[in-house]
Amino acid sequence: MEESLCRRVSEHKQKSTHGFTAKFSVTRLVYYEKNRDVHAAMAGEKQIRGWRLSKKIAGTMRPGAIWAKNGSACAEKMAAHGRSDARGFTYEKRLPMKALIRRLVEAHGPSGREDEVRDIVLDELQGSAAQVEISPLGSVHAIVNKGGATRVMLAAHMDEIGVIVSHVDERGFARFHPIGWVDVNTCLGHRVHFANGATAVIGVENRWDRKKPPGLQELFLDFGVDSARRCPVKVGDTGSFDRPFAEIGDRLVAKSMDDRIGVAILLETLRRLSSTPNEVQFVFTVQEEVGVRGARTSAFGLDPHVGIAVDITDTGDTPRAHKMPVRLGKGPAIKVRDKGMIADPRLVDLMVRRARAAHIPYQLEVMELGGTDAAAIQLTRAGVPSGALSIPCRYAHTPSEMVDLRDVENAVELLLALLRRAIRLD
Ligand SMILES: [Zn+2]
Repeated sequence: MEESLCRRVSEHKQKSTHGFTAKFSVTRLVYYEKNRDVHAAMAGEKQIRGWRLSKKIAGTMRPGAIWAKNGSACAEKMAAHGRSDARGFTYEKRLPMKALIRRLVEAHGPSGREDEVRDIVLDELQGSAAQVEISPLGSVHAIVNKGGATRVMLAAHMDEIGVIVSHVDERGFARFHPIGWVDVNTCLGHRVHFANGATAVIGVENRWDRKKPPGLQELFLDFGVDSARRCPVKVGDTGSFDRPFAEIGDRLVAKSMDDRIGVAILLETLRRLSSTPNEVQFVFTVQEEVGVRGARTSAFGLDPHVGIAVDITDTGDTPRAHKMPVRLGKGPAIKVRDKGMIADPRLVDLMVRRARAAHIPYQLEVMELGGTDAAAIQLTRAGVPSGALSIPCRYAHTPSEMVDLRDVENAVELLLALLRRAIRLD
């Protein structure tokens, strides 16, 4: 356990500390875990120590785990301090898709506070051929093949739904407003996590004598304290729902699959896109859940010819669900319409043709409610023909959003099939 990772790595590299690194001439940091809480860190270290070597190698993907890479913040800090050649000790292994999804969904990023997610995205973009910039609002733009004939903007949003503290009473209970659409039915008993490490349970007034579901204004945050002075948050602090990542068969479950799954798909597509005649603008947007704000300004700045959002969609495959043919595991859904947008039919046709030609399963989506970044892109400047590729997702906007890994992989394949050839909408 160490407070300064850079110093610890430097000591091991210079063999100024005794132990296995000196004994076996180990010079590379492969893996580390970040912990906010010293007791949790101690417990985690003790647990790992007890594992067999094979388990250590296979099972180190835990919350907070980070595979150290070239150009990581720590490596740069080391280089700046002249302690070591940054190439010397970092490790270039890129996170495999499932581990990347896990890292993304466990990051904290309610709308307007996407910093943690942005850091992961920037980290994953290190070493790619893309030209990377950050918009004034905080969205990340990664441009591939700048100057290509057709400018194609792909958008996935980094933010997630959450809560913002609006009042703290004298006993330390806090009231909150929702960030984005928060379903009151999923709040009770759930936990909320804040960027400073604080955790709260959501409680409700008059729990046993109510006949109808409470309104959000009847809920409160309980931080386990008994005075306002001890309350670890203040008015304006934002929290996200607290749920770890879980794998159930082929399905992945977590909070904020909406839309970290889109972020992971864009990163993987960028990584595997070896060549394209188009200028592809991979855009990781901010503030989608509060009104597609980041996509609007990025689309204005990037001036694309075609826009595609990659986001989640509802399904109709659970008991007594509404009538919607989209099912988990049957392929990514090509959006035809949602509440915010009618997709350009030429783009819908093109996506269908490319999916068929490459034998990639797909579904067609008409969603009654909801919208995506594509709605903002479409109405930018003089108008941009737009569409969306959706990942079927059960229990959207709850702390247990469920997607199917096969849909995720097929979405990457479909985007690659689309982008590898020229995109023209005639
Ligand atoms: Zn979304």
